[in-house]
Amino acid sequence: MKLFLSLFCLFFFISTANAYTISPGPIKKWGDPTLGTGATISYSFMLGGEECDQAVCSPLNSFMPTGFQQEIKKAFNAWSSVANLNFIEIADDGANFNTLTTSGDIRIGGEAIDGPSGVLAHAFYPDTHWYFSAGGDLHFDSAETWSIDSLIDGISIFWVALHEIGHSLGLGHSEASKSVMGPFYNPSLNGLQADDIAGIQYLYGANISAVPIPAAFWLLLSGFIGLIRLRRY
Ligand SMILES: [Zn+2]
Repeated sequence: MKLFLSLFCLFFFISTANAYTISPGPIKKWGDPTLGTGATISYSFMLGGEECDQAVCSPLNSFMPTGFQQEIKKAFNAWSSVANLNFIEIADDGANFNTLTTSGDIRIGGEAIDGPSGVLAHAFYPDTHWYFSAGGDLHFDSAETWSIDSLIDGISIFWVALHEIGHSLGLGHSEASKSVMGPFYNPSLNGLQADDIAGIQYLYGANISAVPIPAAFWLLLSGFIGLIRLRRY
């Protein structure tokens, strides 16, 4: 049985055949709406007991094993390691889903979605309008058996978080054969793939802190080149 990873927009804007897609309609990204520009994004873990979009939200620690937060943070780190993104965890204020809130841009919670298997989680595309706080929110299905990065005894929290955060950041489903943003659970892909990285860098640009050579090096090098030229001539 194939396990689905859902989002609430069923129609995607296909930017390139057989590759990543972005959210439909106007560009939906955090930070400056200009493509290729970075963003600082907050996230928070919901407390549970709030109204969710389909049912009452459940706290993640009521149905996930100890260590789930580290798995989700690993997923955020995977995206920020390749794109110009900065994630900050803040406290959740316990507001109901999609109401005025001081919680994170991305609120992470649990919800009874469709029982075991089927849809594992769903997420909402970015939306920075103050009246639509649902933008970016991510709900894990409380009926699944979740596991800490394991391929054997349950659904990998890390893998599903990695996929859903992709939606929370503005990516749709990919048609590439190797992509975490494919529509089906596929933990054999052990981290972000080239197609995922191309998609997120299209929206936010590359991780500028990952550039290994500082500008001062090139200034120095250009000085050496100038010196070499001086000697040659
Ligand atoms: Zn999905």
